[in-house]
Amino acid sequence: MKLDPDFKLQILEKIGIYSSRFSILEPKVLLTTKEVLDMPKEMTEGRRTSAYKYYGVTYLQHNLVFINVRKILDDKTLENTLVHELIHLRFPYLAHGKRFNKLVRQGLRGKTFLPYRKRTTNFSH
Ligand SMILES: [Zn+2]
Repeated sequence: MKLDPDFKLQILEKIGIYSSRFSILEPKVLLTTKEVLDMPKEMTEGRRTSAYKYYGVTYLQHNLVFINVRKILDDKTLENTLVHELIHLRFPYLAHGKRFNKLVRQGLRGKTFLPYRKRTTNFSH
């Protein structure tokens, strides 16, 4: 899809909406491979020069998301990719699979999620 300023704003708005539904801190969003390459190398380590191959990439450690708008051909794929990447941020421990896909579907349907809380172990002695 072709990226113009209006479209860019629309995408960022959607990310804002989903971020609040998923109770996550809104990520920094990159929309072109050039922006990926312009980031400090340590932030995009592992998926830097290969980022163009994917619809989207989440750099969990840096709350950073790349949406490969140029590769995405239709609205449905765009929406899917946005939600997919944001689900990674909300459920950082979850790998791809059935449970992950279910959460994406729920997210697309407008479900809200409570904030992610890191578990700590309680010890008594
Ligand atoms: Zn993924």
